[in-house]
Amino acid sequence: MLRKEKRILMHVGPVTILDRILYAGLKNNVGFSSPEFIQAFQYSLKKTRELFQVDNTYQPFLIPGGGTSAMESVTSLLKEGEKVLVATNGVFGDRWIEIFKKYPVKVDILKAEPGYYVEPEIVEKQVKKERYALVTFTQVETSTGVRQPIKESVKAVRDYVDLVVVDGVSSVGAEEVKAKDWSVDVYLTASQKAIGVPPGIGILVLSENAMKRLNDEKSVAGYYLDLRNWLPVMRGMEEGKGGYFSTPPVHTILMLQEALKIITEEEGLENRIKRHERIASTIRAGVEGMGLQIVAKRPEAYSNTVTGVLLKKVNADSVLSNIISEGIELAPGVHPALKEKYFRIGHMGWVTENDAIATIATIERVLKKLGEDVKVGEGVRAAQLYLSE
Ligand code: PMP
Repeated sequence: MLRKEKRILMHVGPVTILDRILYAGLKNNVGFSSPEFIQAFQYSLKKTRELFQVDNTYQPFLIPGGGTSAMESVTSLLKEGEKVLVATNGVFGDRWIEIFKKYPVKVDILKAEPGYYVEPEIVEKQVKKERYALVTFTQVETSTGVRQPIKESVKAVRDYVDLVVVDGVSSVGAEEVKAKDWSVDVYLTASQKAIGVPPGIGILVLSENAMKRLNDEKSVAGYYLDLRNWLPVMRGMEEGKGGYFSTPPVHTILMLQEALKIITEEEGLENRIKRHERIASTIRAGVEGMGLQIVAKRPEAYSNTVTGVLLKKVNADSVLSNIISEGIELAPGVHPALKEKYFRIGHMGWVTENDAIATIATIERVLKKLGEDVKVGEGVRAAQLYLSE
């Protein structure tokens, strides 16, 4: 019973949420035109700019849904027959392909093997060959835990494409993100990931260059996710007047406000990124210490938020079900090429050093019981040594 009640959630989203944030959403009488809600929306839009490191030349959007709704809303910027290029490192990079294929645009694909990212030079070569309206990158590919070097990747393509789009769903709030300095046109995330809010909100910022495309009547977008329909609401909210296109996730916005307050005014964004870096290093030290390998193949590809762990003998499903019954929820492997052979540790949001140690200790114990070839105690030792350096 206690293991369930006191479970530690080391998933890739939703993540453990602070009580303070949950309580901020417990309001029984707040409608979408109430002053409290409009103020929360206004504050969240302002802080969204800070989160992505952009100024007022960028337009923030908070739309219902999550990562996928934010991704699909990018079709607002495309016209029939235009060509897009998807650089994909796994399942979530591939999602762009699935989305674009539903619309009358042409899609080219550059794919990396699991554990790797598409090299910026390869993308550069491709954009020099063909004219693309848009190129997509995924900053942290959640299916493998691989981080794409966004600054370098954008630099490689910037002069040859109209729009650069970055999926920061598993990175914003935990990795360095500088949308303006890096000249990214669309950067997006979701509420339930590294900013540690319940699911329900897709979050984007659009550059002036991207916003110009919203003036074009002829986009391929549908209705609900056409950013043209959401723009007057964002402007109304920012001006403190409110607005409506479709009912917003009112209570989740109240929680987002609380989280953004903690992130930007209490913890500090830089400290938050450093905390994620430190915890990710602790987890990796622990995994390697117990004698297992991680999915990301090179240190440059290690992420602050997700670690894929490769198993030698035992089946991943049995590992996950045994670990959850010991009080820790991890995430299953989802990359088709590696399924059954790995699992993922999510370490984003409000994760602490103690969570990391408990996770490594539990993984070691459960794997040993299941007959995996691990050095019990060595993972915890390596993690502790890293943290006490
Ligand atoms: N992109 C990435 C990198 C993700 O990790 C996810 C979700 N895990 C998504 C997109 C889709 O987000 P959602 O599940 O909120 O629709």
